[in-house]
Amino acid sequence: MRSILLTLVLSVIGAAVGAWGGAEYVMHRAHTAPTLHDVVHEKLHLTAEQKVRMESLERDHATRRHAFEAEMRAANADLAQAFQEQHAYTPQVQAAIDRFHHAMGGLQKETIVHVLAMRSVLTPEQTAQFDQTVVKSLTEDAR
Ligand SMILES: [Zn+2]
Repeated sequence: MRSILLTLVLSVIGAAVGAWGGAEYVMHRAHTAPTLHDVVHEKLHLTAEQKVRMESLERDHATRRHAFEAEMRAANADLAQAFQEQHAYTPQVQAAIDRFHHAMGGLQKETIVHVLAMRSVLTPEQTAQFDQTVVKSLTEDAR
């Protein structure tokens, strides 16, 4: 019985880690892939005013991103504690998993909102190139 529970908990932890990896992957594709920011900062030839607005967007986004990341770490700590206390699939385990996924979903939404905010700073010509890069980063196979 012990080993069945241990296997269950380990697979739950594995799923949480996998979800975290999945979130990282989406984030990488959608935003932190060097290509998108390379395009924005090097190829779009931003004006001085656009650069100032982009920097302010990046600061706001970084603050919100860090809050979601802290929430995800806290959820993982909850999960570890629930595991340590009961070694069973308790409501505390389920709550920790739900907390994690809630934070991860929030971070994904925040990332897309940030991408859209960056887009709103651009001219129509710049937007075309930006959109191409976003779509490419979301659909391309990992290398
Ligand atoms: Zn950005």
